[in-house]
Amino acid sequence: MKTQEHINLVENFAAHNYHPLPVVLVRGEGVWVEDVEGKRYLDMLSAYSALNQGHRHPRIIQALQEQVNRLCLTSRAFHNDQLGPFCQLLCTITGQEQALLMNSGAEGVETAIKCARRWGYTKKNVQPDHAEIIVCANNFHGRTITIISFSSEPLYKDGFGPFTPGFKVIPYDDIPALASAINENTVGFLVEPIQGEGGIIVPKPGYIKQAQELCRKHRMLFILDEIQTGLGRTGKLFCYQYEDVKPDLLILGKALGGGCIPVSAVLGSKEVMSAFVPGNHGSTFGGNPLACAVGRAAVAVIIDEKLPERSAELGAYFKKELENINSPLVAEIRGKGLFIGVELKPDAGPARGYCAKLLQEGILAKDTHEKVIRFAPPLVIQKSEIDWAVERIARVLK
Ligand SMILES: *Cc1c(COP(=O)(O)O)cnc(C)c1O
Repeated sequence: MKTQEHINLVENFAAHNYHPLPVVLVRGEGVWVEDVEGKRYLDMLSAYSALNQGHRHPRIIQALQEQVNRLCLTSRAFHNDQLGPFCQLLCTITGQEQALLMNSGAEGVETAIKCARRWGYTKKNVQPDHAEIIVCANNFHGRTITIISFSSEPLYKDGFGPFTPGFKVIPYDDIPALASAINENTVGFLVEPIQGEGGIIVPKPGYIKQAQELCRKHRMLFILDEIQTGLGRTGKLFCYQYEDVKPDLLILGKALGGGCIPVSAVLGSKEVMSAFVPGNHGSTFGGNPLACAVGRAAVAVIIDEKLPERSAELGAYFKKELENINSPLVAEIRGKGLFIGVELKPDAGPARGYCAKLLQEGILAKDTHEKVIRFAPPLVIQKSEIDWAVERIARVLK
């Protein structure tokens, strides 16, 4: 079957909750993918940063295959020999004390919300059912009913009510707004260190640090969603390390699954994680031995191959090269590490059109927020491959 036949099948039999670019992929290795016609593309989306280690990293695939041949699933009704070592590794690299494993990012966010609320009731004596969590406008934390309840994007919410109460939305990168939103029922502040889906919005230096200090002062949890920014994407292992802070709850996902399977985690201190007791939260697949084995290899690759350092170095180079294109269509180029947003000028037309042209040039990239082209290749990309891409991006943006 060729491209159009596959697309016709999907149009017919798959729900239309996405609007994919017209390419049908059949193979991937490292930063490269191949379509059903045999054409090769450089992947500059990395499945929204779930492929920081590249497609089918040999060490991750080996861990997956070895574990597949031993044990895949136990449920948490029993112990398995993979959960402990993986949680220990996660605690070591984050400086946290305990991990709770889930599958998707949204489940991780839901878990953190449940944790913060119950922590508030049990440790801060918030009146039952009165807990409030502060979040930011233009956020993206996932697609469950509770999470979209505090989205500021009408498309994510339209027709899906009624919504979950208990959230206060304030502007992003606005410390005074945070300060005035806090009251005696506030149990946490949930924030992305860089807003990814929101258009690669980088807050002012000091924002994350000041937000954490306010949380400390008012005894509320500082909850960081590093599902997209974490694990090397922004040039540090975690984006919060740019500001010398430590979150009370850290949510990881995407690249934690090594580009193979869904793995998410919430990490915190024993005091915070004690909100969970046997039976009050769980997931059939959360912490399964296959996920833990893959997750352990996924983290090991990021650390052993120094992917955060690569991201910092190559990201700075890539950004400079994009700036050097000097495109009359571009309003701003922003980002950290290999997490770069190119915002187009208002009269340039929608970013999607440019992504379609990039596709023809052999580059997979995705628009976000109408006007922004996101460039977030796997962190294993080579400098020569960035040069290859810049040549083509320049053609499209000239
Ligand atoms: C992708 C993402 C999520 C949701 O993760 P899923 O695995 O798609 O549920 C949550 N937060 C951020 C910041 C994300 O980028």
